[in-house]
Amino acid sequence: MKKAYKTEILLSDQQQQEVNQTIGVCRYVYNLYLHTAQEHYKETKKHLSGYDFSKWLNNVHSKKTDHWIKDVSSKAVKQAIMNGDKAYRNFFKGLSKFPRFKKKKNQDVKAYFPKNNTTDLTVERHRIKIPTIGWVRLKEYGYIPTKAHVKSCTVSCKAGRYFISTLCEEDSSNVVEAPKHDGIGIDLGISTLAVCSHHIQFENINKTQAVAKLEKQLKRQQRKLSRSYEQNRSRERGEFCAKNRQKQLVVVQKLHARLANIRQEYIRYVVSVLVKTKPAYLTIEDLNVKGMMKNRHLSKAIAQQCFYAFRETLTAKCVEKGIELRLVDRWYPSSNLCSNCGAKKTKLSLSERTFTCDNCDTVLDRDFNASLNLKYAKEYTVLI
Ligand SMILES: [Zn+2]
Repeated sequence: MKKAYKTEILLSDQQQQEVNQTIGVCRYVYNLYLHTAQEHYKETKKHLSGYDFSKWLNNVHSKKTDHWIKDVSSKAVKQAIMNGDKAYRNFFKGLSKFPRFKKKKNQDVKAYFPKNNTTDLTVERHRIKIPTIGWVRLKEYGYIPTKAHVKSCTVSCKAGRYFISTLCEEDSSNVVEAPKHDGIGIDLGISTLAVCSHHIQFENINKTQAVAKLEKQLKRQQRKLSRSYEQNRSRERGEFCAKNRQKQLVVVQKLHARLANIRQEYIRYVVSVLVKTKPAYLTIEDLNVKGMMKNRHLSKAIAQQCFYAFRETLTAKCVEKGIELRLVDRWYPSSNLCSNCGAKKTKLSLSERTFTCDNCDTVLDRDFNASLNLKYAKEYTVLI
């Protein structure tokens, strides 16, 4: 079984420069490939493969201009081209949108380092040997297993911090334990993140003071950043020089990263609590997130809940632990059914927080009732 580990690394100034250079060249080459392939398609109506582009880059282009492409790891450059090739192929297959140029400030470029010789990517408790960069200190000791066979790694930079992601080959000796509980139904929502059928609920973390404070800070710093762009354009007051703007950009990026980390950590916590109860199965609703996002009053609150990340994390954890994950259709009336007698209510407005059955006079919390219905749902697809 393959497992990915991502963790922060501490780089020396020299290493930082090398990584920045590699990431920069990869971004440049990726963009150059997108542009060249686009022109090539206009002329010949044929796709320029990453392989052909790579040959042209090595034999023609980097000899005439842009000699500095040769300064960084050639395999990292190759990987950047192949990523671009994949992006085009996915577009032609209709799987994704037309590939976009990568911007420096978006920081979505990773430097790829495959294993070159036997001592590369050796993992010790506190450090790892990255090909061409050398030994690098790990911030979290002992997170990446020292016995793991690492084939390759990528290094990325986010908000002034550097991260390594390694793919390890592991022995899959997972002992599937007998479930302790019966199934659990999970009703996801905005006011509370999740209400579960075993009387546990998880609050919405975005309503906590810590997050609200960060959001407020972010708003203020973003305003400062956008003002700097405006000032630069009008040049009425003193110039907000490019270097200071870059600094302000990192301030904003750091706040974004911090908020994202808090949300991600919370989702991992919720998932681990759910999985630790060892249920026979878990049932979730197939939420129409895209449709819900169209409501502009709710779109921000929905985006902050990270439903997609929740489902991804839950799926991965269920695969690992061998728990059945059931997905109920989005049209299943989980809120309108009575969990006691099964009678369906035709009228139920969103503002009604309690569910009162007209048939058997059961009174339950609305979300709790929905979670019970999900638990006992008869029609579902098994995700894993
Ligand atoms: Zn009833």
